Amino acid sequence: MNIALIAHDGKKNDMVALASAFKPLLERSTLLATGTTGGRLQAECGLTVERLLSGPMGGDLQIGARLAMGAVDVVIFLRDPMTPQPHEPDINALVRACDVHDIPCATNVASARLLLTQLSALTL
Ligand code: PGA
Repeated sequence: MNIALIAHDGKKNDMVALASAFKPLLERSTLLATGTTGGRLQAECGLTVERLLSGPMGGDLQIGARLAMGAVDVVIFLRDPMTPQPHEPDINALVRACDVHDIPCATNVASARLLLTQLSALTL
């Protein structure tokens, strides 16, 4: 299972908490993340993560490209709806790519929990 993890700055603490709660699943998955999110997951959760560019530098687009090639199965994308993002077009492109390729994409903690809970059960 290839899982992509992205969190905007206002949501990075939530991502770390989420990843800690689902560490057994994430440890047996292949993880990729945008740069800063991936760094936090490595340092604070002890997870092995392939880190791409930071989101504003093109990381979201890199994940979208991987996804379009069939290399991403699930996206956890904790967006901050309260803060304008300089790379809004890239964010929209990634979410659109998920819809185009019918890839599950959780954009808030509640939906991420549901998705990861289901995945944990499926991949036991
Ligand atoms: P970051 O990128 O993990 O490098 O902060 C996420 C984003 O802002 O899209």
